[in-house]
Amino acid sequence: HKYVYDFAEGNKDLKDLLGGKGANLAEMTNLGLPVPPGFTITTEACKAYLATGSVPAGLADQIATHLAALEREMGRRLGDPDDPLLVSVRSGAKFSMPGMMETVLNVGLNDRSVVGLAAQAGGNERFAWDSYRRLIQMFGKTVCDVPGEEFEHALDEAKRARGTTDDLDLDAADLRELVGTYKKIFSKHTGREFPQEPREQLDLAVRAVFDSWNAERAVVYRRQERIPADLGTAVNVVAMVFGNLGADSGTGVAFTRDPASGVQGIYGDYLANAQGEDVVAGIRNTVPLQELERIDKESYDELLDYMARLERHYRDLCDIEFTIERGKLWMLQTRVGKRTAAAAFVIAGQLVDEGLVDLDEALHRVNGAQLAQLMFPRFQLDHEFQPVATGIGASPGAAVGKVVFTSARAVELAAEGEPVILVRRETNPDDLNGMIAAKGILTSRGGKTSHAAVVARGMGKTCVSGADELDIDVPKRRFVVAGHTVTEGDVISIDGTTGKVYLGEVPVMPSEVVRYFEGEVDPATTNDALVRAVHRIMSHADANRRLAVRTNADTAADAARARRFGAEGIGLCRTEHMFLGDRRELVERLILARDPAERDDALAALLPLQRADFVEIFREMDGLPVTVRLIDPPLHEFLPPLEQLAVNVAVAQERGEDVAKEEALLAAVRRMHEENPMLGLRGVRLGLVIPGLFAMQVRAITEAAVECARQGVRSCPEIMVPLVGAVQELETVRTEAERIIAEVVGGSDVDVLIGTMIEVPRAALTAGQIAEAAEFFSFGTNDLTQMGWGFSRDDVEGAFFWRYLELGIFGISPFESIDADGIGRLVRIAAEEGRAARPGLKIGVCGEHGGDPDSVHFFHSVGLDYVSCSPFRVPVARLEAGRAAV
Ligand code: PEP
Ligand code: MG
Repeated sequence: HKYVYDFAEGNKDLKDLLGGKGANLAEMTNLGLPVPPGFTITTEACKAYLATGSVPAGLADQIATHLAALEREMGRRLGDPDDPLLVSVRSGAKFSMPGMMETVLNVGLNDRSVVGLAAQAGGNERFAWDSYRRLIQMFGKTVCDVPGEEFEHALDEAKRARGTTDDLDLDAADLRELVGTYKKIFSKHTGREFPQEPREQLDLAVRAVFDSWNAERAVVYRRQERIPADLGTAVNVVAMVFGNLGADSGTGVAFTRDPASGVQGIYGDYLANAQGEDVVAGIRNTVPLQELERIDKESYDELLDYMARLERHYRDLCDIEFTIERGKLWMLQTRVGKRTAAAAFVIAGQLVDEGLVDLDEALHRVNGAQLAQLMFPRFQLDHEFQPVATGIGASPGAAVGKVVFTSARAVELAAEGEPVILVRRETNPDDLNGMIAAKGILTSRGGKTSHAAVVARGMGKTCVSGADELDIDVPKRRFVVAGHTVTEGDVISIDGTTGKVYLGEVPVMPSEVVRYFEGEVDPATTNDALVRAVHRIMSHADANRRLAVRTNADTAADAARARRFGAEGIGLCRTEHMFLGDRRELVERLILARDPAERDDALAALLPLQRADFVEIFREMDGLPVTVRLIDPPLHEFLPPLEQLAVNVAVAQERGEDVAKEEALLAAVRRMHEENPMLGLRGVRLGLVIPGLFAMQVRAITEAAVECARQGVRSCPEIMVPLVGAVQELETVRTEAERIIAEVVGGSDVDVLIGTMIEVPRAALTAGQIAEAAEFFSFGTNDLTQMGWGFSRDDVEGAFFWRYLELGIFGISPFESIDADGIGRLVRIAAEEGRAARPGLKIGVCGEHGGDPDSVHFFHSVGLDYVSCSPFRVPVARLEAGRAAV
C-alpha cells in the first residue's frame, strides 16, 4: 500500500488522498513553480491510524525512503548537527478547515543542530535559538498536550526580565536561556526529556497531526460546514524555508482577484522579516502587497508571473501563501480561493470573457444560495459605520432595530410598532415569540446550527449568532462591546450575511439584483458588473434547464412579481387565503348554517368573490397554467380561538347584551375542536363532508375561465384536490367537479384539468391507482415530510431540531431540504408508478422544497416537470434547475 507521495507524484485532482494542500503543492511542483521540496502522507494512512490507534505497517519505511530522497535533494540531513535540514509537518484535509488542525514547524532542531542552523544562517544565533524555542513550544503543545500558557508565561517572564514587551528585544543568550526553561516545562508535564532524535520528532508530529482530525474544534467545525467526519487529514512534510532571516526575507498572502468584489488587480498583504504564524497572530502590521515591488522588485515580478500562471492553470481565482528567504521566492500554498457571492458571479462572467471557462462551467461556479444572498437588501456602508463585533452570519438579511433582551419585551415593543433586535446569550424555545416579533436576532454564543440560527433561518429572519465580543447582562438589560455600553432601546444594525454588528441605524438599500429581476435595471446598458454577470448566467440556466419553474401565489400582485422573476405559471394558489379579512364573516355563516338553505346562501355569497379573485389571477398569468387548490385547512381556523370566544360571551353576558351569535360560535368551535387538526377534517375530507363547498370553488374557477375567454384572455386552470390518500376520495370529488365544469363551460373554448396533491404517504404508495383519476400530480412535500417523519411542521423546528442537528441525525431540517433517502423515496415511487399508469402525467412539486437548491437537483433527477416556489425563490430555482441540467 502506498501511503507516501512525493510532491512530484501527486496532482490537484488527488484531494481525497493528498488533501487540498498536498494536492495543490504537487500541482505547483509539477508546474515548475518554486515549491520547497517535500512529500505527503495520505489520508488513507490517517484513517488507518485513527481506526486502529497505530500507524499502518509500512508507513515508517515509506517515510524513511521519502525522507532520504528529500535529504539528497536538499543536500542536508534532517537534524544534522553541522548543517541541518529542518521540516514543517502540516495538516491538510480535502476541504479547507482553517486553523482547526495542527502544524509543527522546525522539526529536526535539537541541542546540537541548533548550532548548525546558526552557522547556516550566517552566524545568526538569535534566529537559531528562536527557531528552537518555537519548536519546543509548538511540539510541546500540539504533540504532548503541554499547556500552552506555561510557555507563554515563560516568554513573558523573559521579556519582563529584559524590560521589554517585544520579542525582537530578546537576544541569542536570552533565547538560549528560554530554551532551557521550555525544556524544563516540557519534562515536567511529560515526564521525559524533549526528544533529541530528529526522526522521533517527525514521527510524533505526524501522529499529532493525525490526532488533530478529531480535536474538538475540528469536529465542531466539520459539523457546521457539513464536512464528512470520516475523511481524515493528510500530512505534508515540507523542507523549511525562513521568512524571518532579515530584511530581505518575509512572508505574505496574495489573491489573483479581489475575493470581495471579483475585480481584477493585485490583492494581498506582505510582512517583512516574519514567518506565516506572525501574520496570523497579528504581531506586526502587514503592508499591501504592492509595496513588495519597492522592497524586492525581482521577487514581486516573479510572484505576479506565478499568480497569472496559476489563474490560467486553475481557471479560477487562486489564493496563495508565499515566503521570501533572502531574496528567493518560495510558494508555500495555493488553492482555489473562497469568495463572496457577488465575486462568484462577477468572476464566473470574467472567466468566460477571458475564454478560460465556457458558460456551462460558469453556471457551475455559482449557486442558488449565493444568488439568494444577493437578493437580500443590503446595508449602505460608508466609513462612518465600523462594526463593533463580528459573529457568524447565521441567517441573511439586514436588520435595524431597538435592542431588547427578553422575549416578552420584544413582543411588547413590536406590538407598539417598534422594530426590535432580540439580543440573547443564546436562545431557547421560550424565546420563540420574541424571535417572531423581532426584526433580527443577535446572540453571543452558538454557531450555524444553534437554536437561534436554525429557527431564524426557518422564519427567514436575520440572525447573527456567536458574536462573542458581546458581554451581555440580561438582568441589567444591557451589553458591553468594544468599550460601548448598549442599553435596552438603543438602536443597532445587524448583517446576517457577514455577521457584522453596528451601533446605530445603518441605511438599508434594495438589492441591485432584485431591481434587475424587477426589470428596473437593463442588463444591456448597466455598468454594474454584477448585474451583467447575473443576467448572463441566468440566461444560460434558462436556456438549458429541463425543469419548469412556477410560483406559489395567492394574489394577483404576487403572481405579477413572480412573472417578472421568471415564473412560468402558478403551481399552487392556496384558496384559503381568499377567505380571510372581511370574508371571514361569510365563512362563519357557512359554518354556522343550521340548514341547507342557509348554507347555500353563504356559499352563493362567496361565489362571486372567489370568481373575481380567479379572473384577476388568470389575467395576470395570461395563458400560463394556474393550479388552484381547493380549500385545505380545517374550517375552525377561520373562527376565533376558543378562549377568546369564551371571554367574549362572558363579557357580553355581564353587560346583559344579546349573546346568541357568540354562543352559537362558541358551541361550533367546541364541536369542531380536534386534538390533531393537521390529521383531522381538512383537505379532500372537507369536500366529502360539507356539501356544496368544493362545488362552489369549482364553479368559481370555471366561470372565471369562461369570463376570461369571453374577454379574449386565455387561461389554463388546473383544479387541485389536497390531502388525497385514496383514489376513491379523488373520484368522488372529481365526478361532481366534472359535472359542474361541463355545465359551466358549455360551448366555450375552456379546458379545465383536475389533478391532486401527493402529500399523504398513502397517496405516494398508491400513486398508480390515483393516477387513473388525476390529470396531474403535485407533491406537497411539506405535508409529505410532516406525515412521513411524523414531525409536526408547526412545532418541531423551534422545539428540538437543534438537537437533531447537533447529533447529526440530519444535516439540515427536512422541511428545508428534501430528505432524499426517505421522503424522496416516496416521491420517486409516486412519480414512477403514476407515470406507468398514465404516460405523460404532468408532475410538479409545490412544497417549500421547490425553492431549495439541493431539493431542486433532486426533483430534476427524479424527472419532475416543474418546481413551484415563493416568488422570491423563483430566480434561485431557475438557476439551480439550470445547474442540474448542464
Ligand atoms: C404541502 O403540504 O407541501 C403544501 C404545499 O401544502 P400546504 O403547505 O398548504 O399544506
Ligand atoms: Mg399540504
